[in-house]
Amino acid sequence: MKKNVFAASLVALLFSYQTQAQSGFDDVTIESKSIAGSVHMLVGAGGNIGVSAGDDGILIVDDQYAPLAEKIAGALAGISEAKTRYVINTHYHGDHTGSNAFFHEHKDATIFAHENVRVRLASGKDADPAALPVVTYEQGVKFHFNGETIHVFHLPGGHTDGDSVVWFEQPDVLHTGDLYFKDMFPYVDLGAGGSVKGYIASVQTILDKIDDDTSIIPGHGSLASKADYQRFLDMIKETYAYVQAKKASGMSEDDIVAGGLDSKWDSWSWRFITTERWIRTLYK
Ligand SMILES: [Zn+2]
Ligand SMILES: [Zn+2]
Repeated sequence: MKKNVFAASLVALLFSYQTQAQSGFDDVTIESKSIAGSVHMLVGAGGNIGVSAGDDGILIVDDQYAPLAEKIAGALAGISEAKTRYVINTHYHGDHTGSNAFFHEHKDATIFAHENVRVRLASGKDADPAALPVVTYEQGVKFHFNGETIHVFHLPGGHTDGDSVVWFEQPDVLHTGDLYFKDMFPYVDLGAGGSVKGYIASVQTILDKIDDDTSIIPGHGSLASKADYQRFLDMIKETYAYVQAKKASGMSEDDIVAGGLDSKWDSWSWRFITTERWIRTLYK
């Protein structure tokens, strides 16, 4: 379990380094964008936040890092004066669950997540009981909120073993959590039940459910379309097949790393998941 905690804090640390200067969260601003119907997207540092805001109140999908909680609340107040009633966690990583305790304790919101998200958050060294999901599910749950239907689906081990995606049905907006890093190599948390094969299967399952009009809020990166998401899956499948073929031919992990990937994938490398780290993930 210690390993998971370490992985989570590593993710939190690295994502924070990716999105801002090393000076902390002071310079981070939370930008709000209206998508469709009741749905908005907040971008700051860490995972993108999905928002449903309307007569029934506010529901948010993920809540970034704890030091950003007040700023997130401020951005929500700019959308609606209504109360934040529900928080859904797409998975347990700290860049998606960091403000749970704030929304629970100060806003009286109820936190929802897959069973394994609660288990992993609760097993953390300094687990805060206020940050734990209050309602957990195994397969999913539906919200009837702001005149719309919000479907929360669990998908088996992909990014972690507690992944959920959230589909706002009528406005046709999907929040993928970290089952999508737009135009970036994805992080697959092999120490928390994630796997590349599972990740590919989950992305395919989601692609089969959506269409060309669906707007996609990725875990990381800007608003996307089905075609963008398909391009991401194609990249994973192609690089996975390439690395597995080299492995089957007897090449060592280090030799494959030394050879690199086709240069057409260079732009997908980023600070946290470099080409080297992606190859090592694909090899395992
Ligand atoms: Zn993330
Ligand atoms: Zn994550």
